[in-house]
Amino acid sequence: EAKSHKGSGPVAFGAVIEQASRDAAVIEQNLRRALEHGTEITVAYQPIVGPDGRLVRAEALARWTSAQLGPITPDRFVAVAEQAGLMVQLGRRLFQIICDDLVAYPDLHVSINISPLQLMAPDFIPMITEELRDRGIAASRIEIELTESVVVDDPRLAADRLAELHATGFSTALDDFGTGYSSIGYLGQLRFDTLKIDRSFVSKIRSSQEGVEIVRGMIIMARGLRMKVVCEGIEAAEELELLRAMGCDFAQGFHLGRPAPVQVLVNTWLCSTSPQAAVA
Ligand code: C2E
Ligand code: MG
Ligand code: MG
Ligand code: MG
Repeated sequence: EAKSHKGSGPVAFGAVIEQASRDAAVIEQNLRRALEHGTEITVAYQPIVGPDGRLVRAEALARWTSAQLGPITPDRFVAVAEQAGLMVQLGRRLFQIICDDLVAYPDLHVSINISPLQLMAPDFIPMITEELRDRGIAASRIEIELTESVVVDDPRLAADRLAELHATGFSTALDDFGTGYSSIGYLGQLRFDTLKIDRSFVSKIRSSQEGVEIVRGMIIMARGLRMKVVCEGIEAAEELELLRAMGCDFAQGFHLGRPAPVQVLVNTWLCSTSPQAAVA
């Protein structure tokens, strides 16, 4: 077993890699099956909350509990889907689930995570706009979350896609800001509506003054560039207070609410809304 060899030289390293790729192959096999038929893939929603304590929108997060393998984290199965050429198919499935929820709950606004591979696919924007048109959903109810890697891969194509998204009525967010390997110069050209400050920065503000100054600087920069700021991974009341005082617009994290099924989110945050199906 790979783990027992850990740290004992090149043979062990090979064994760890072998184990990892075997795992990936097994995950891929099960993911293919899950995409073909079945209901294993779902979406959880995490609240993003404004200064008045009201829901601004909810982030849609992919969930997969495999009958054979149990729950797999999205970091893991999204990476496998990307490597296996399944990301477009997975993305389409997730988008359909989210559209079902947007139809059922007319007051719901969401943000969705889009992999660079989806954004760069030529039919991505036509696919999502057609789906929205068919179902009578306004694009303005959806914010598209992208990471810096999109910009690194192909800055010109990224700029084109971003402009197209905005022209179609979507808003856009730069996710996990500060964790990538790119320079921040692109923020001058690429106009995202929202900047999402990564949890790794938020988690330092209670223990370190340097941590506070870094987040403060990010917020000031975002304001200057006329972006809204979402702080991710807020786990304590004290963090929320500090961030509000620094001018953070919107808050997200376990302290405000964990990812949950759509009914739970709606019952907690949009009490006045009842699903269309129940009304009809
Ligand atoms: P992300 O887009 O940055 O999503 C935020 C992640 O932080 C989520 O993890 C969320 O559950 C977690 N989180 C939120 N608040 C807290 C907190 O207070 N403390 C801690 N410790 N964690 C918190 P999750 O759901 O496991 O997703 C991980 C990543 O997987 C996402 O990071 C995103 O990059 C990717 N992902 C998830 N769903 C999708 C999807 O539908 N499509 C794509 N392409 N990627 C997705
Ligand atoms: Mg995200
Ligand atoms: Mg993030
Ligand atoms: Mg992330």
